[in-house]
Amino acid sequence: MENTRTFFTDGSKIENKTFVGFAVLDCSKNVVCSFRSYKITSIFTAEAMAILEALKIVEGALERNFSIFTDSKSVVEAVNGMPKLGSSSYIIFKIKDKLRYLVTKGKKVKLFWIPAHKGIIFNEMVDIEAKASCDSGRDTVECIPNSDWRTFWKELCMKEARVWYSENEGGKGKKYFEMFYRYEKKLWFTELSLSRKAITSINRIRSGHTYVKQSLKIFNIVSTDLCECGEGVESVNHIFWQCVRYEMAREEMIKDLKKAGQFPPYNIVPLLCSMKPSCLAALGRFINLAEISI
Ligand SMILES: [Zn+2]
Repeated sequence: MENTRTFFTDGSKIENKTFVGFAVLDCSKNVVCSFRSYKITSIFTAEAMAILEALKIVEGALERNFSIFTDSKSVVEAVNGMPKLGSSSYIIFKIKDKLRYLVTKGKKVKLFWIPAHKGIIFNEMVDIEAKASCDSGRDTVECIPNSDWRTFWKELCMKEARVWYSENEGGKGKKYFEMFYRYEKKLWFTELSLSRKAITSINRIRSGHTYVKQSLKIFNIVSTDLCECGEGVESVNHIFWQCVRYEMAREEMIKDLKKAGQFPPYNIVPLLCSMKPSCLAALGRFINLAEISI
């Protein structure tokens, strides 16, 4: 570490605080720089912003060798990894850019990851400073990355949906909320490899507003709700389990459902409520094979 100027950086996000704090401890000079950013800033961004601030100090410094320590493994990985256009934070791009620039100025900067809360004294010190920065830090000049706004917006929408439902008891959307609504950050189909048609059809079934005649008749879009096969009302359950027009596709679906441990009698609602990936895959395959949009 001789002749190397050393920094410890940290970010801190505390619930119910208006700001997220981050700090840079310049160990060699025994100086702390404290910053804060609006509360929607993620902890990842705060940690990255702290490293960026350390690099700004490096830029103006006379020394040639620098070490920056952070307890954020994900930021170190993002800085060392390949950037993903469109999804990587612009702060990471700025860090990478600055590191390249500093090399051209003959400066060597090493970024190290250290585990948090392991009694490393400087890390403990900068952790305290980062926490205090939530209240007393200087407002950062860096903008909050798009990804943090997206997360904030998504959480707000989900929160508002829950509030809307609780205030709207018995009104529109009642069935959907009772049967299908789950408070999850990921969409139900994110981890599944379903076709777009299968996803939109299943979403329509979940919402109770489909293109089957039973649904269209309610809005007087069609004059009859009888199915073209002549065997009764064209409902979602009729299409999946009865309609003679889709027998071949159904045979395959039933094979898949049995493999998934689902046996007759079948009903679309409990199958969808289970949200079992193998069941959803079977239903999705039926929608594809039958070439229907529900
Ligand atoms: Zn039919």
